[in-house]
Amino acid sequence: MGVIKKNAGRWNGHIPYEYHTSVATGSPASKWLDQKIKEFNDFIGKEIFRPRSGEADYAVFDLVTGNCNSAIGKQGGRQVIQYKEDTGGMTVHHEMGHCVGMGHENFHPDYPYKTKFTKGSIPELQWQRNHTDYEAHGDFDNDSIMRYAAASLEITLTGVELANDARRQSMSKGDKATVLYLTT
Ligand SMILES: [Zn+2]
Repeated sequence: MGVIKKNAGRWNGHIPYEYHTSVATGSPASKWLDQKIKEFNDFIGKEIFRPRSGEADYAVFDLVTGNCNSAIGKQGGRQVIQYKEDTGGMTVHHEMGHCVGMGHENFHPDYPYKTKFTKGSIPELQWQRNHTDYEAHGDFDNDSIMRYAAASLEITLTGVELANDARRQSMSKGDKATVLYLTT
């Protein structure tokens, strides 16, 4: 279903957000992001991300050219979601999932490929270093948008992984259940 970072800060029902100046009011970038946030909220069936109205704890969406990044769960105060626009991908939804408190599905204790890492490889070292910081919320969910793609964690897994690496077209049922669990 999902993977949750242990002791991640919880949001109280909603995540107030603002746009960084990289997402100028009325710009194509802001319209693109409006649509992505709507997609996220519509899929969950709840206004998880809501325009900030003076709340002390909030997220700022920052359009970047480098790596995407988001802290996992509520940090307290201002926190930044760095995202890129992509065509048909779910990158920003993935980063929003981190902001809610979700970790990579690859750190699920039942992650089926964990035994296939090449010993000493970067993917194996990442798994060893990180997976104990996370806990399962239900079964492993291969369709989760939080399941990291082959370009990093599964870089050594060819063949069998290719089919699974197709870019997600939607969040999964498990993503929805986990987001609701973390925000209710
Ligand atoms: Zn991620």
